[in-house]
Amino acid sequence: MYLLNTPEYKIEDFFDELLIGRHNNQKNNFLKTRLLSIKSFLIDAQDNYQILGADKSLHTNVEQELINIPTDIKLCDGIPRTISSAEMEKVYNTYLVDKPESEKIGRKVYNSILANTYHNLCPYCSHREVKTVDHYLPKSKFASFAITPINLLPCCSDCNKDKLDDYILNEDKMLIHPYFDDISSHDWLECIVVEDTWPITFSYNVSDTIGDPVLESRIKYQFLLLNLSKLYADNATREFNKRVKSLVKEYNSNTSNNAINFLDDNLYSYRHDNKNSWQSKMFEALRNSDWFLQSAIPELEKFYTRDKLRKIFKS
Ligand SMILES: [Zn+2]
Repeated sequence: MYLLNTPEYKIEDFFDELLIGRHNNQKNNFLKTRLLSIKSFLIDAQDNYQILGADKSLHTNVEQELINIPTDIKLCDGIPRTISSAEMEKVYNTYLVDKPESEKIGRKVYNSILANTYHNLCPYCSHREVKTVDHYLPKSKFASFAITPINLLPCCSDCNKDKLDDYILNEDKMLIHPYFDDISSHDWLECIVVEDTWPITFSYNVSDTIGDPVLESRIKYQFLLLNLSKLYADNATREFNKRVKSLVKEYNSNTSNNAINFLDDNLYSYRHDNKNSWQSKMFEALRNSDWFLQSAIPELEKFYTRDKLRKIFKS
């Protein structure tokens, strides 16, 4: 959950070029003619999206599976006066997604969305690699935002799939929007060491003290929907296993200080990058656990023996 730069393109920057050379015939009900007739409508819808996004009010959007062509636009007899969400989905898939090797403007727009990331991290989970583009408001329900860059986000395959299965237009359940919602000033992620349990494991939750009830509810909803608690806990356990050997070495070289310094150094580095990353919170949890510091560290070597470590590294 992190903030991205707003997209490089707006609809008006590429819409005309997107339609160059596209079929416009009886077979597709003169789609190009109909698309040209809704250009202003799509730009207005995009501008309204921008206003609502900045106002944290995207949940007030109304689902629209059919775009009506404005009544003041004259069309020849026989040309439908609507564009369906299915047609807009097709426009997205063939004009924007296109093929990776395409040099047309649509693919350029698509690639610019994919490339707008922090170290290629998915902005929904802040962990997995970006592989695809997601529609924040689904294209099947919001035909007017099917090709609107401000509604298109870089995303990992898992978040894309988990998000797809569930969609509710509710103020408390809107996912954190990577173009509008900056939550970096909030200390929203919590982690604790699961004490008196071996091997060392972690538990992740969203803080109850964010101070903004709607924001807190949205983060909690996203955390649950994308199963981030398990994702972070699993990765923290793996990360800890990789660090045990160094931690034991530091502890053995100076039992009173070095293990603590090791944790503090790691915490400092990760916090510098992102104070709400699962890594920052993992080291913070280790540092805050009296059980870990006093009882577990002296036992680490015994539990994580060489054989056990080897087994862990292999798994
Ligand atoms: Zn993701």
